[in-house]
Amino acid sequence: MSSTTILQPGEIERPAGDIPYIYLPTRSAVYHDRAARLRTLAQGHSMRDFLLFMAALCETQQDALNNFPAVPLPDASRLNQCREHGMPPLSVQSWPRDPAWQQALTTILARVKQHAPPASQATIARIEKMDSAALEKLADALLRSDYEQVDLATAPLVASALQVYWTHMSTSLGVHAFSRNGVGNLCPACASPPVASVVRIGGEQGLRYLCCSLCETQWHMVRAKCSNCESTKDIGYYSIKGGSVKGSFGGAVKAESCDECGSYLKIVYMDKDPHVDPVADDLATLALDLMMDENGKSRSGPNLFLMTAPEAAI
Ligand code: FE
Ligand code: FE
Repeated sequence: MSSTTILQPGEIERPAGDIPYIYLPTRSAVYHDRAARLRTLAQGHSMRDFLLFMAALCETQQDALNNFPAVPLPDASRLNQCREHGMPPLSVQSWPRDPAWQQALTTILARVKQHAPPASQATIARIEKMDSAALEKLADALLRSDYEQVDLATAPLVASALQVYWTHMSTSLGVHAFSRNGVGNLCPACASPPVASVVRIGGEQGLRYLCCSLCETQWHMVRAKCSNCESTKDIGYYSIKGGSVKGSFGGAVKAESCDECGSYLKIVYMDKDPHVDPVADDLATLALDLMMDENGKSRSGPNLFLMTAPEAAI
């Protein structure tokens, strides 16, 4: 294990006015690229079958997103109102969720069945037996992180359809629809917590963005600052030496931890590997979660594909 504090806040950042606050991935490629990354990470990985199943799930998400029907979106006056008050216009707590997400779930289940191992076949059958009201109740519990109310085996599949619905909305509205939010550690589009953060390359070279666990929106936060409590004191970066954990090879994945609030979130570096993906690389580095857990730190944001404790998934 190694730990280094590498930057002071703002040390390499451009002036705030020059920094694009929101980054949205390419709608036609986002889940397809994630699937490709998962297949790469699966090679020789101890969790190969799990990662390959997740890759198949991501491919079905891309299909569902490509064919998502038109649904109501916030209008210009609502977007302006949200901008004025620093509120996320697609908040998971207040946006009236359209039942179209359930159609996406039906599509996803039908396609992913072909790749599912026996245990997942049983889970799929359980979801298929649920009526619309039960699915909405499950979605409510998932979106407010009330995991005690959730059949955890069903969570990745149900979440995958909710992700597609919210990504359909965030990418349909585009980057200019969203503005700085009153709460820096929640998504400015949908108010969900981040799954991880990414240090980008290209036009956003060296800038750190938090990656929404639900709608694929990324939002800027300066580096060397806790993404949970925004403390700048006692921030540490942990990795597993020698790259024995797939995805952490070459330092592309680290855990950024904060002594102030006792939390951590992974940070992935595109300059170390341009193909890193916040969700895929997180799933492939569960040994880092175990290490942080042993260090007494808890994750500050969920991976909706992993609702069980890391030790149970390995
Ligand atoms: Fe979001
Ligand atoms: Fe903190």
